[in-house]
Amino acid sequence: MQPKEFLRKLGLKAKNAGTWTGQQSLTGSARSIQSYSPVDGQLIGSVTTTTRDQYEQVITCAQEAFKVWRDMPAPKRGEIVRQYGDVLRQYKDPLGRLVSYEMGKSLQEGYGEVQEMIDICDFAVGLSRQLYGLTMHSERPAHRMYEQWHPLGIVGIISAFNFPVAVWSWNACIAWVCGDVCVWKASEKTPLCSIACQLLFQKVLKANNLPEGISCIINGDYKVGEMMTKDGRVPLVSATGSTRMGKTVGKTVAERLGRSLLELGGNNAIIVTPSADLKIVLTGAVFGAVGTAGQRCTTTRRLIVHSSMYNDVKNALAGAYKQLRIGDPLDANNHVGPLIDKGAVQNYLNAIEAVKKAGGTMVVDGGVLEGPGYESGCYVKPCVAEAQNSWDIVQHETFAPILYIMKYDTIEEAIAMQNGVPQGLSSAIMTGNLREAERFLSVAGSDCGIANVNIGTSGAEIGGAFGGEKETGGGRESGSDSWKAYMRRQTNTINYSESVPLAQGIKFDF
Ligand code: NAD
Repeated sequence: MQPKEFLRKLGLKAKNAGTWTGQQSLTGSARSIQSYSPVDGQLIGSVTTTTRDQYEQVITCAQEAFKVWRDMPAPKRGEIVRQYGDVLRQYKDPLGRLVSYEMGKSLQEGYGEVQEMIDICDFAVGLSRQLYGLTMHSERPAHRMYEQWHPLGIVGIISAFNFPVAVWSWNACIAWVCGDVCVWKASEKTPLCSIACQLLFQKVLKANNLPEGISCIINGDYKVGEMMTKDGRVPLVSATGSTRMGKTVGKTVAERLGRSLLELGGNNAIIVTPSADLKIVLTGAVFGAVGTAGQRCTTTRRLIVHSSMYNDVKNALAGAYKQLRIGDPLDANNHVGPLIDKGAVQNYLNAIEAVKKAGGTMVVDGGVLEGPGYESGCYVKPCVAEAQNSWDIVQHETFAPILYIMKYDTIEEAIAMQNGVPQGLSSAIMTGNLREAERFLSVAGSDCGIANVNIGTSGAEIGGAFGGEKETGGGRESGSDSWKAYMRRQTNTINYSESVPLAQGIKFDF
């Protein structure tokens, strides 16, 4: 099923899709966002921007839903998420196609995103029976002490364009089993993907006679996002996007002493040691650097190569890049699709200019592609440049397929280079040497949230806690015990004795 047909089948008049309190579309706003596909430059549909009044309706709807949802036993909430997983299995093909068409990633990656949604549903179902708290031994006789976890209320989710559906589900599915309700502000660059996910979830809520406000969406740019970050009724804001965005969101939420979970930019490196397997290096580095046209937070941006094999790696990369096919991402023969828009193309060109100005040499040239199939103006050539880690341009994340390659001599130097950037998301070492691998993973090794051995930097399994340090924001979501961020902890002490022993031996004479 083609993306536009899929949207129509979901009951969406793509010409005028509204803000959704849940099942109910609130239209009537004068402003709208046009969603153009970077694949062919065609308008897919328009979405109305959420007004202040509509935002109030959404929050009221979510607050009402919370009163019902929080009282439902967690395993029963898990059952709702399980049903959503089934709906996603049923709609994997059209939803994956829509992701690919609206965002521009390859069809396989579009399907991969929906698969991650299905996986997180499965994870959340199991988790709904495992929201464990500890029991502690009280120091007072005949007292019982334990901790329990309660939902927070409304979780605000702000998401980036590059993972238009999966990142929301990482948050929402976990938040739902925890008993929270969610309000989602998706990227203004991929609004239709969010509406599709919303409508699919509403099918499940409707079938189970549950309130629509368990899942709501609001549409628009940062100004609509700010309605949530400034709103004390939203105790947690989980925001994924650039470091620039995170610095503003973190500050705004902190000013009202709310909680934020920040998943921000990366500047990920692979260290290639003398004992590395060149085949693994090439696969990891090329997929990491050009996958999603370099628009992943975990994209490989730097390759730190031991001087003894630097030329071999450089030449092998140049050979591999020659074989890349760039074009329509819905065609499975292509490896690289377009960038999200012309603004991203300009950032890519500026970065190449900056690296050349700093003295960098191009190993594989970049450039914008023109002609049949490239009419959207968003297709660029993945490129490789020899660069120095300290250069300003290398220190910044450019969201495009530009790979910087640099030399090292000692493992200490390589780790220092790997850590020597403001971001701390993903990192990898390619080595057959146990000592080097363990050193990289030790406390004096990688300072990132993700550190891999003989795997590239790109992507992650949903079962682990995902996120990074430093300017990546420090948040963790998805697997492991990330669920704790979506709940409040309460310590309970019960006295079943016939007296009240006071702390510090204090006594009252009555
Ligand atoms: P972006 O920062 O431009 O926008 C992200 C979202 O934040 C959008 O929905 C936007 O409307 C909203 N926003 C921006 N400013 C805001 C503000 N002041 N208040 C409230 N909301 C605001 O990012 P993008 O271009 O969509 O995505 C690319 C960036 O996202 C890259 O830096 C990438 O590394 C990062 N990213 C990080 C992760 C991660 O998990 N660490 C995952 C995906 C993307």
